[in-house]
Amino acid sequence: MKNIAIIGAGIAGISTAIYLSEFNCEITLFEKKSFLGGRSYSFIDKISNEELNYGEHLLSESYSLFLGILRVLGTDNNLIKQKSLRVPFISGASSYILDCSRFRGKLGLVYGILSLKDISLISKIKTLQLIRNLASGAIEITNMSCSEMLNNFKIPNDIIYKFWEPLIYAVLNLNPSEAAATLLAKVFELSLNESGKSGLIFPSVGLSALIEPFKEYAKKMNCSILLNAEVKQIIFKNGFASGIRTVLGEEYEFDAVVFAANPELMPKLWTDASIEYLEFLNALEYSTIICVHLWLDEEISELDFAAMLGTQSQWIFNMRKYRFVDDAAVAKYPHHYSIIISGANHLDHISNDEIIKIVFDDILSLFPKFQEAKILHKQVMKIKKSTIKITPFINKLRPETKTSIPNLFLAGDWTQTMLPATIEGACQSALNVKAEILKLI
Ligand SMILES: Cc1cc2nc3c(=O)[nH]c(=O)nc-3n(C[C@H](O)[C@H](O)[C@H](O)COP(=O)(O)OP(=O)(O)OC[C@H]3O[C@@H](n4cnc5c(N)ncnc54)[C@H](O)[C@@H]3O)c2cc1C
Repeated sequence: MKNIAIIGAGIAGISTAIYLSEFNCEITLFEKKSFLGGRSYSFIDKISNEELNYGEHLLSESYSLFLGILRVLGTDNNLIKQKSLRVPFISGASSYILDCSRFRGKLGLVYGILSLKDISLISKIKTLQLIRNLASGAIEITNMSCSEMLNNFKIPNDIIYKFWEPLIYAVLNLNPSEAAATLLAKVFELSLNESGKSGLIFPSVGLSALIEPFKEYAKKMNCSILLNAEVKQIIFKNGFASGIRTVLGEEYEFDAVVFAANPELMPKLWTDASIEYLEFLNALEYSTIICVHLWLDEEISELDFAAMLGTQSQWIFNMRKYRFVDDAAVAKYPHHYSIIISGANHLDHISNDEIIKIVFDDILSLFPKFQEAKILHKQVMKIKKSTIKITPFINKLRPETKTSIPNLFLAGDWTQTMLPATIEGACQSALNVKAEILKLI
């Protein structure tokens, strides 16, 4: 039996606990906050009384690890899955749909891209060639940003603007000129997998409801969850991590420690991390995501969701189409939309009122019905530390699971998973920790 501490109960910490609990490990999960889930959580909006995510999260059928975790927790039945990828793009000039439903898997994507409206055939063919090369790893893009890659492969501007840019913002949460191209390649590799499933997934409940059953699961699996338990230090003895100390001064002994908290905290918990990860910590930067919720008396679009083109706002989600709310909520607030701006650091210093103005102008330019709608309630979330910026430079510096301490491991969407900083990346980091800890057992 190994006695293991996990610091941080975000998706990485929870997944690590689930993976390790199968292997006769006794686990204690320390979480600073009063709730589970880290950045993947939801809360009740006091005015509408609706459960809102801390930023709308886009999930995909290619998230095989996260879907596996939800199956273990028994909450995978709260997911509304597209049969295959179908994304409406709305622009002032022309609107179109990327519809991959005609055929399964790769063929569906080929058909979907070839059917895009108002894009030249040469742009579509070049895009398909690039996707094929990315998914098969046939081209060298290690040091390239997404923009450099698109330039290098002479992808025409019409399809960059109408397909590549919205995709890059959605999956990498970063400006294409900064985002690492290798991560985009990994996304294609996973999406064009053998199962042929590449559709998007919309949870019908908030993110916290998806992971809440972990509390019951933990009770059965030798796992203690300590909430409001901020870890202050990792204790070392003879070159090994021997335990942890909380901010309340409580000390616990462990055989191994998994650090699954925010990367900038590493040097606070063990001083030597400031030397071991010096370059990474110095280069570390975060991306902002802005999420605006609007409750309206009228429907402005029948679409479930859409990519918005030519506006600062990038995505609009019609929450009433997939999120469960009771009849009383619908009677009071008939329509609810969530609008997302990813990679939004350029808006860090503007006020919520100014953000609302930008979003209103954007919606009005694409959904004229908005002019007649009455705004019943609104809510702005500006989340400055949403995900780390993974540029080609940072990608090479992302810390590996193993540290220089033999029984101290790292988990989190920021570690070297080869994936973007996503929920699936957090699960992959947990799988990496499991592989290392199994070597110790
Ligand atoms: C607005 C927004 C939108 C997003 N959209 C998407 C999306 O569409 N698709 C997608 O896949 N991903 C999305 N993400 C990213 C996704 O939320 C993260 O990748 C994932 O939640 C990361 O999980 P994690 O466990 O690695 O880190 P975290 O969730 O940050 O977990 C770290 C945990 O450690 C705890 N902690 C910190 N310090 C201590 C301490 N000293 N002691 C104990 N505990 C501590 C923290 O409280 C936290 O709970 C989005 C994120 C945001 C913020």
